Amino acid sequence: MLNEEVLVLNQNYEPLTFCRARRALVLLYLGKAELVESYNGKVVRSVKNWLPLPSVLRLNRFIKVTRREIPLTKRNILRRDNHQCQYCGKKTGPMTTDHIIPKGKGGTDSWENLVCACVECNTKKGNKPYTSVGLKLLRKPKKPSYLQFILSSRDKIPEEWRPYLFVDSQ
Ligand SMILES: [Zn+2]
Repeated sequence: MLNEEVLVLNQNYEPLTFCRARRALVLLYLGKAELVESYNGKVVRSVKNWLPLPSVLRLNRFIKVTRREIPLTKRNILRRDNHQCQYCGKKTGPMTTDHIIPKGKGGTDSWENLVCACVECNTKKGNKPYTSVGLKLLRKPKKPSYLQFILSSRDKIPEEWRPYLFVDSQ
């Protein structure tokens, strides 16, 4: 249970990072953080008593963070798009990355111009604008935040974290 993951918020409630419950208890004990949410009904034994198992913590001091960048790679584009073709919605079969605006037409290698596409859609599109071949984009691609990216690889996000993550608005 001490390995349970805890969401750590900055002093301004902005999601910052994750840690294990063991570390969270130390931060609480040292007065470096306050408990915001605990895992419902779960408790952990400390030296003297039982404590609620932390789920979300808030640091007492504001930590200035330099934004961590996610490398722009084919693998990461596919991961951002959940291995789903952003044109037809297919989720199986080999996937490629497609330049929405073709490189030959001034399109860049960027989070905003690259999407996951199945081989069929990529072939159908070729070097043409996707609208001219009757394709639609499922969503407008954007650069993922570091935390969102880490979260996207999880199967399950604890309910207690949701109010602090804005995951539903993605
Ligand atoms: Zn497709």
